[in-house]
Amino acid sequence: MQQGLFGDESVAQNCIFCKIIAGKAPAHILYQDEQVLSFLDISPVSAGHSLIIPTNHHDNIFSLSEEEITAVALHAKRLAPVVKRVTKSPGLAIHQLNGRAAGQTVFHYHMHLIPCQHDTPQQFHGRRPASQSALTELAVEIRQALTKA
Ligand code: AMP
Ligand code: ZN
Repeated sequence: MQQGLFGDESVAQNCIFCKIIAGKAPAHILYQDEQVLSFLDISPVSAGHSLIIPTNHHDNIFSLSEEEITAVALHAKRLAPVVKRVTKSPGLAIHQLNGRAAGQTVFHYHMHLIPCQHDTPQQFHGRRPASQSALTELAVEIRQALTKA
């Protein structure tokens, strides 16, 4: 799907990540510009689990342009060390799922950044929502650290 948020209103209305981009659904936003948005995963595998999305709607990698995937990758390069440092994690996993068969559950392309302690389970999805206050606190800390990165 190649439609941008403003080119196809039905996509924008039905996609939770498009709603976040449009400011019509809540999120703990870490960074936003014209091409990308990052925010904390609502149901994290570990504290600091973040998602990076392109601001144009694409279901998955298959329709993403080279420019859009480059913007996502460049933001990952900047955000990953910040999330790793703020969460004091010795490792950080990056996952990206395409299609239901691959386990994708939200069909707006996104990259997962998952901080890993030595005992963090190697899984793609958290089991339950994090507390809103914990997400708020962490988002503030990561946003502040990101401005200095
Ligand atoms: P995937 O299975 O790769 O499509 O991952 C979708 C991710 O989006 C999961 O980790 C969900 O916890 C996360 N998620 C779903 N809805 C929201 C939301 N409203 N805000 C933040 N994260 C979300
Ligand atoms: Zn979308």
